[in-house]
Amino acid sequence: MNVLVLNSGSSSLKFQIIATDLEQIKAYKDDRILRGEVEGIGGEAIVKIRYRKEPEKTLTAPVRDMGAALDYLLRYIASERSGIHEIKNTAEIHAVGHRVVHGGELFKESTLIDDRVLKGIEDCIDLAPLHNPNNVKGILAARELFGKEVPQVAVFDTAFHHSIPEQAYLYAIPYHLYRRHRIRRYGFHGTSHRYVAFRYRALRGLTREQTNIITLHLGNGCSAAAIKAGSPVDTSMGLTPLEGLVMGTRSGDLDPAIVGVIARKEGMSSSEVETLLNTQSGLLGISGLTNDMRELQAELTDHDDRRVRLALEIFCYRARKYIGSYLAAMGGADAVVFTGGIGENSPEVRARICREMEWAGLRLDAPKNQETVGHEGLISTEDSKLLAYAIPTDEELLIARDTVRVIKDEPHPS
Ligand code: AMP
Repeated sequence: MNVLVLNSGSSSLKFQIIATDLEQIKAYKDDRILRGEVEGIGGEAIVKIRYRKEPEKTLTAPVRDMGAALDYLLRYIASERSGIHEIKNTAEIHAVGHRVVHGGELFKESTLIDDRVLKGIEDCIDLAPLHNPNNVKGILAARELFGKEVPQVAVFDTAFHHSIPEQAYLYAIPYHLYRRHRIRRYGFHGTSHRYVAFRYRALRGLTREQTNIITLHLGNGCSAAAIKAGSPVDTSMGLTPLEGLVMGTRSGDLDPAIVGVIARKEGMSSSEVETLLNTQSGLLGISGLTNDMRELQAELTDHDDRRVRLALEIFCYRARKYIGSYLAAMGGADAVVFTGGIGENSPEVRARICREMEWAGLRLDAPKNQETVGHEGLISTEDSKLLAYAIPTDEELLIARDTVRVIKDEPHPS
């Protein structure tokens, strides 16, 4: 089954085509045909596309909206000049899997999209006004292009976290605010946390119930999850992705009174402050330079800039604090798993986070940590009481697999 995986943003569309089926999933023989991204939708868009191991191609085209982006993409893929042999026309795409950011309390697992489900996703727009409308546009565009005969599946960022108990998902605010507006912790990056938890247990030959780990997704967005007996019992992102760890441009945790203080002192509205906390804060806000960890590390090596150092220290300190608090929340764990662009590729950040964690039985193996970049592996000493792993995430693969399982009505283990 050729599954088109779509992640639609405000002006971008990330896509992959993965050939997979129940047998291929079991044998771990999923076949990634192509991947890429359309950027700059609404104007002259840049389309980057990589077919198998061939060099990435870059194309440009005026693309007015999500529908036009998808249309352009599919025409290109099916054309002779693309050189893509597997897809000769749109009929060779058998299903579409969508990353949907917010499923609220409605969607606890990946779901076949029909009119009722689409309405449910629209109802969650209130909870994710920046993300869900784009996901809806992606779904509508795919429906328009493929027709209703091609099944579409929604895979929610929030779904994996549905097992989190009340004590961890409720905020200590008047309870009626939860009842009236469903204000609670939902958590995000669920597909990523779920994927690396699955890879961890595959690496160690464990069952789901034997999986007691803390997963740290450190990318431009960052989140932590405490996974006990295979299910999350807590996670750091909250009602929105703003809470928790320090991120590229998001502040993560702060005193909520700060919102009012900034609003008053800077003459801003609360939504302007929210934007500042989402887009001007985190690594970018502290360093005053960039949200890009690679650039910050290079800057630190070249110039030892004080604010760059501070940004890195605050980032790592917050992550370490979360490991400590999740160890307490879970009554101990077997491993910490690093993933995301930073978690997968930066031994320096991992080492800084794990510094002075010997009290918890965590001892990094320096050479292993250094060499485990962009591939999975143990990065602690083997006799560490609390092990550490780096595992590259693959949300698209999980979306493709869930799409197949949902269509074939096969239970999909979370
Ligand atoms: P993501 O959102 O998962 O794509 O992660 C993006 C973040 O990963 C950016 O801050 C990148 O600078 C960071 N990143 C990617 N590669 C490296 C690397 N080799 N060293 C440090 N940070 C990296």
